[in-house]
Amino acid sequence: MPDPSNSKKKAVVVGAGLVGALWTVFLARRGYQVDLYERRSDMRAAGYVGGRSINLAMSVRGWAAIDKAGIREKIEKVAIAMPGRMMHSETGELSYQPYGKADEAIYSVSRGGLNLELLHIAGTFPDVNFYFDHRCVDLDLQNPTITFEDTTTGLLKTVEAPLIFGADGAFSAVRYALQRTDRFNYTQQYIEHGYKELTIPPAPGGKHRIDPNALHIWPRGNFMLIALPNADGSFTCTLFLPFEGAVSFEKLTTDVAVRDFFDRYFSDAVPHMPTLIDDFWGNPTASLVTTKCDPWHWQNRILLIGDAAHAIVPFYGQGMNAGFEDCTILDTMYDEYNGDWSGIIPDFSRQRKPDGDAILELALRNFIEMRDLVGDPMFLLRKKIAAWLHEEYPDFIPVYSMVSFTNIPYHVALHEHDRQNELFREILALPDIEANWNGPAVRECFERWMAESAGL
Ligand SMILES: Cc1cc2nc3c(=O)[nH]c(=O)nc-3n(C[C@H](O)[C@H](O)[C@H](O)COP(=O)(O)OP(=O)(O)OC[C@H]3O[C@@H](n4cnc5c(N)ncnc54)[C@H](O)[C@@H]3O)c2cc1C
Repeated sequence: MPDPSNSKKKAVVVGAGLVGALWTVFLARRGYQVDLYERRSDMRAAGYVGGRSINLAMSVRGWAAIDKAGIREKIEKVAIAMPGRMMHSETGELSYQPYGKADEAIYSVSRGGLNLELLHIAGTFPDVNFYFDHRCVDLDLQNPTITFEDTTTGLLKTVEAPLIFGADGAFSAVRYALQRTDRFNYTQQYIEHGYKELTIPPAPGGKHRIDPNALHIWPRGNFMLIALPNADGSFTCTLFLPFEGAVSFEKLTTDVAVRDFFDRYFSDAVPHMPTLIDDFWGNPTASLVTTKCDPWHWQNRILLIGDAAHAIVPFYGQGMNAGFEDCTILDTMYDEYNGDWSGIIPDFSRQRKPDGDAILELALRNFIEMRDLVGDPMFLLRKKIAAWLHEEYPDFIPVYSMVSFTNIPYHVALHEHDRQNELFREILALPDIEANWNGPAVRECFERWMAESAGL
């Protein structure tokens, strides 16, 4: 099957967000002429200064893609290691829990800073053409062409596009065109919670006000506050709260209500949040959506990647990581298929889809873990036992580590989540488990479970 981009090796990428920008770098390294279209203005012109600092947790899957693209050095310098989570109780007690082994950490990176850096790197390739202020409005699947609106003039522009990557996010226009084709499945679901970003500014002198080498969590049952460190000494906090109900955004309608809510549930954070009220009213309350679609491609020349294919809730810190892993896998397949997109595109769509579905499910489950369980003594005990087993039996990898510190496919991690739940139900029911958490009965139970899983 001939390369649908013809001998010129041309591709159109729609969306210059995190995944579109990174995938452009991968394509450019393969010698492609890439036309990258983005509805927003060029953030390089504004220099991404000022504004709110929003950050993301990057883990091994994200770093693997950054490595494969050959750009780790540039990204690493703006990342802050978070080797564990710091839990804040309602009365302000702290408890720290490592995420993995001593040398394992997830990393806080600035979303804007990372996006900007990726665009700068893409811009170093002479064959990358940027079209900012261009909103994709339609695709003609038969011809094949794609139409953009120049948002500065309102004029429409239709271009030929033999090979298209839709990296235009959860509300993808490329996907919308595919939704109108026969036998294309699509679902979306909003969860009952929304989120609002808030700030802990740097202390006078520029230092962090709380420990910068941790992801901070204030778990409160049905809602939670988290905080991730920024390089400038600040933290970006995110409040996840239901839109409606007894304790919800709809109840927080006055300064007094907001202040009372924070004093009651996050009292140790409040002294570090001098701009709380202004931030609360100034920043939007945003919703959280998951999307699933099938297939992720159309014929051998249109492919959805990143959130356009699999938008998930942020509770595992994996949305971007999963999108970056899409790039790693595609790039590896490019070699396996000798650059033949007619093989790569349908095969990627088929192979990767179960992983998209799995991380969607894992992320929903992790919300319950973060908001509800991280303060629960039995859950903390489970984590302690899991970490110990991980040290004692290297073949045993706790699910959090599997997702965050390995490239094991997400669908395997999801299966393992169910199995490990069964194991820990048994272990935590052992007599006197608090005192004997690393005793012979735990070993016996674990070894039986391992043997069963090996089919012995
Ligand atoms: C609160 C929150 C916290 C998160 N935390 C984490 C985390 O800690 N770790 C993690 O891995 N992930 C996290 N995520 C998920 C992560 O933000 C996304 O998975 C990631 O941004 C997806 O990248 P993307 O490039 O696919 O899509 P996007 O980042 O949405 O980029 C899509 C781009 O396409 C452009 N676009 C959209 N429509 C069009 C159009 N019609 N024409 C042209 N351009 C268009 C947009 O302007 C945008 O630039 C979080 C998400 C949220 C909401």
